Amino acid sequence: MGCTPEGVAKAVRAAADVVAEHRAELVELDRAIGDGDHGENLNRGFQAVVAALDAGLPDTPGGVLKLVATTLIAKVGGAAGPLYGTAFLRASTVVSNEPELGAAQIVAALRAGLEGVQARGKAVEGDKTMVDALLPAVDAAGQAGAGDVASVLSAAAEAAATGADATVDLVAHKGRASYLGERSAGHLDPGARSTALLLGAFAEAAR
Ligand code: ADP
Ligand code: MG
Repeated sequence: MGCTPEGVAKAVRAAADVVAEHRAELVELDRAIGDGDHGENLNRGFQAVVAALDAGLPDTPGGVLKLVATTLIAKVGGAAGPLYGTAFLRASTVVSNEPELGAAQIVAALRAGLEGVQARGKAVEGDKTMVDALLPAVDAAGQAGAGDVASVLSAAAEAAATGADATVDLVAHKGRASYLGERSAGHLDPGARSTALLLGAFAEAAR
């Protein structure tokens, strides 16, 4: 089974629902080691994405991903808006005008997203950021790449959740949380958590 524009839009709407459900949790996580805006920002961004999809469905999967990117860049402030925006933009570029995405293209899109986040934010694994969820997700997706879209996304989501949970023990070296130094340890990184939530929603939608 491949991913049509309708399929990608459905996954993005599912992600918007999950972000809305977890808005308060993301606010709390960001309040502990940041400024408390992550849940609010991301929710505003994804609600705007839903409104943009309601206004008209792009005719390729890449077009949907590009709409997500431009909307997030316009609507989500802070560090996460441009980082997620860049991820979706790179993902949209790598799938080009393909009418339907198979497992290999989903892997390529995830990898391009990670490269975009790292090019923009300069974070490496262990810096206690969304990279700690996204990087293991890309590795796991690559290993599952011979399977179908649903199994690729399931593997990615599971690895992202494990990676996000492991950020609790880390000291932040990038972003606002790094201002806390050692005191950032003992808290889950909000961006890693939101990345795990987004990938979980995509995987659920693909099943
Ligand atoms: P801000 O920190 O500007 O308030 P958000 O609260 O929306 O932005 O997002 C914070 C999250 O962004 C962090 O939890 C972290 O995962 C992610 N982040 C911050 N800086 C970077 C970076 N340089 N690279 C990757 N992710 C980052
Ligand atoms: Mg914040």
